Amino acid sequence: MDCLFCKIAAGTIPVTRLYETDEVLAFPDINPQAPVHTLIIPKAHYASLAHTSPTETALLGSLLGAAVEVAKQQGLVNGYRVVINTGQDGGQTVEHLHLHLLGQRHMGWPPG
Ligand code: AMP
Ligand code: ZN
Repeated sequence: MDCLFCKIAAGTIPVTRLYETDEVLAFPDINPQAPVHTLIIPKAHYASLAHTSPTETALLGSLLGAAVEVAKQQGLVNGYRVVINTGQDGGQTVEHLHLHLLGQRHMGWPPG
């Protein structure tokens, strides 16, 4: 499948692998929007969050758990933001489910 994040998960496209389990992988965003901007993906292909089932609790939990672990690893003691852009209106540009972990700067609302 011609999917950028599947290639990254498979190691075909090299990235700094910040955190990894059998199910998930975290790596730096190539265009960071904050001093810490890490992407967390499932190794299996899901086009978006909307393509997961509510019964896939293990996978969904692993993704959030990875975000917590990476946040600790990156020293985000003042907090952080986890974002999942989903579909066209959600601003998703890469069609492989990913969480953005953003930190080390204050983030107001709405995002800018
Ligand atoms: P989204 O807009 O939520 O789909 O986010 C996609 C993210 O992937 C953007 O923040 C991009 O900067 C990031 N991105 C695109 N290509 C790469 C890459 N090769 N390595 C790391 N991050 C990437
Ligand atoms: Zn994929």
